[in-house]
Amino acid sequence: MIPGSFEYHRPESVDGAVALLNEHGDEARLLAGGHSLIPMMKLRMAVPSHIVDLQAIESLHGISEEGGEIVIGALTTQHEVLASALLAEKCPILLEAAALIADPQVRYCGTIGGNVANGDPGNDMPAIMQALGARYRAVGPNGSRDIAARDYYEAAYFTALEENEVLTQIRIPTPAPGHGSAYEKQKRKIGDYATAAAAVILTLDGGRCTSASIALTNVADTPLFAEAAAEALVGSDLGQAAVDTAVKQAEAITEPTSDGRGPADFRTHVAGVMVRRAIARAQKNAG
Ligand code: FAD
Repeated sequence: MIPGSFEYHRPESVDGAVALLNEHGDEARLLAGGHSLIPMMKLRMAVPSHIVDLQAIESLHGISEEGGEIVIGALTTQHEVLASALLAEKCPILLEAAALIADPQVRYCGTIGGNVANGDPGNDMPAIMQALGARYRAVGPNGSRDIAARDYYEAAYFTALEENEVLTQIRIPTPAPGHGSAYEKQKRKIGDYATAAAAVILTLDGGRCTSASIALTNVADTPLFAEAAAEALVGSDLGQAAVDTAVKQAEAITEPTSDGRGPADFRTHVAGVMVRRAIARAQKNAG
C-alpha cells in the first residue's frame, strides 16, 4: 500500500515546526517515529499533503531531572526509555511499559511523544502518564502551555492539543523514593496492543497505603484515570476487601468495545484482573 503524495518539511526548531503547522492547518501532520502515522497513511486513513518531520529538532531529545520533575523530550524513543539509568532508578514503570510495546524494531523508532500525542486508545504510555500525574508541554504560535495527561484525551484520536501546537516535553513529578509500581498488560500475542492493561503506583508506610493511583489502557475511547479505585486503597493495608472494592470501581468505569480482542464483558473482566495483579506487584515493589 502506498501513501498519498505529500510535501516533506524538515524544520530545525520547534518555532519552525509551529510556523509550518500554522501555515498549512489541517493539511499538515507532524512526523516523529512514523510507526503510527505511516501505517495510517498507507491505509489512506490519513492523507496529509504536508509532512513536518521533527527529527532534526535537537531540543526535543533527552531525559533529565529538573527541580523535582522528570523531563522527557518528545522525540525520546521507547528504546532510549529502556536504556535510561535515571528512569530505571526513579520511574521504573516507564521501562516496564516500554518493554511491552511491540518489538525492538518499533521501539527503536517509535517515540514517547508520538505515543502520548496521538490519542490512540491502544497506546500504553497515556494511562501510565495519567497514573504518574504527568503534564504535556505544548508549544504553539502564542507560546507554551502545560496540559495534564488526565485532561488531554477527549475521544479516540481527539485530544486537547491544537492543530498548530507541538508536544515538546512530558513532565512527570518525580515519584516518591520507595514507591511501588506495576504495569500489567494482557495481550493476545507478543507485540500486540492490550486487550486490557492497568498501571498502579502506590506508597506504603508501615504496611498502610498512603497514596495510590490507578489508570487503565484500551478499555474505552480514551485512557481512564481510575480515581475511585485508587481511593479505595488509600488508608488500607491492601487487604482483600480494599482490593476487591478497587477492582470493582475500576471495572465500573470501563466501556470497551467488542472486537477481535474479545467481547466487551470479557475485556472489562480482564481489566479487573490486571488491576488486581498490578496492585499486588506494586505492593511487593514498594519499600
Ligand atoms: P508517529 O507515528 O510519527 O506519529 C503519531 C501521531 O502523533 C501523528 O498523528 C503525529 O502527527 C503525532 N505526533 C507525533 N509526535 C508529535 C509531537 N511531538 N507533537 C504532536 N503530535 C505528534 N504502541 C503501544 O503503545 N503499544 C503497543 O503495543 C504497540 N504496538 C505496535 C505494534 C506495531 C506493529 C506498530 C507498528 C506500532 C505499535 N505501537 C504500539 C505504536 C508505536 O508505539 C508508535 O511508534 C507510537 O505510538 C507513535 O510514536 P511515533 O513516534 O511512531 O509517532
